[in-house]
Amino acid sequence: MTQIHTIDLKFLKIAEIISIYAVRTSDDGFVLLESGPASTLKRLEKGLAKCGLSLDNLKAIFVTHVHLDHSGGAGTLARRTGCPIYVHPRGARHLSDPTKLLTSAERVYGKMMTPLWGKTEPTPQDLVRSVDSGEVIEIDGTSIHAWHTPGHASHHVAWQIGDAIATGDVGGVCFSGSSHVLPPMPPPDIDIESWLRSITLMRELKPKKLLLTHFGAFEDPQSHFEDLERRIRRWTEVAEDTLASGGSPNDLARKLEEMDTGELKAGGAGFLTIQRYRKLCPMNDNATGLFRYVSRRTNV
Ligand SMILES: [Zn+2]
Repeated sequence: MTQIHTIDLKFLKIAEIISIYAVRTSDDGFVLLESGPASTLKRLEKGLAKCGLSLDNLKAIFVTHVHLDHSGGAGTLARRTGCPIYVHPRGARHLSDPTKLLTSAERVYGKMMTPLWGKTEPTPQDLVRSVDSGEVIEIDGTSIHAWHTPGHASHHVAWQIGDAIATGDVGGVCFSGSSHVLPPMPPPDIDIESWLRSITLMRELKPKKLLLTHFGAFEDPQSHFEDLERRIRRWTEVAEDTLASGGSPNDLARKLEEMDTGELKAGGAGFLTIQRYRKLCPMNDNATGLFRYVSRRTNV
């Protein structure tokens, strides 16, 4: 059985916020699922060392999408090791030239760009590999299946290895000590119909394990997907009602936050767990992304 190590990048020195996965393909060879941001590359090396792995034997990186918390460090790693980066065709050009990505991130994060994300370097063009949906990549005899899974981002890929799927953000956010699965919905390209189709696709692969970026491995995929799907549908209804009654994204954020905090508390989540969800997945961002989607759909 393929050995998969979970590595906690301790983003912002906080445990269990961003995980990436090292998949052994031979005695000392491995691939990475996600690179994490450039700011946590030292942590990544420490995490690999704990598993007896070194960047010298990195064969490839498979990123789920080009948001900075998932793939911001990929360019630096590609330059250092010469390994290829596998990515959705729509994300490929942002890896080789992250200028546009960084400009829009700067609008959101301002002075916090460097402390949060470090220095995001371009990936050499000849190391960027676009993948089709259903494509299989073989590394040392280990098969990695690519599945295009839009919804959270149009450039999203879920990676299947045996009975495990690395779900990136389309599989939601769930922290230890909770079974509450939250859909991260930042602007600009939330697409609820695509997202629900992506969940159906992943369910039909009948995985036994989900490898979430935020955070860790989960072994009850069916109830995980049910909770995620139910929450996506409910939030969308609330967004539609808010829009129909002339409300704003701020009104939607307030409603979602109240509803979600109530559900988290009812599920037994403590203050710190609730804070973790809010920090990683701020409700203002979710409301802005979702409101934009329902407004566009109404105006078509
Ligand atoms: Zn994302």
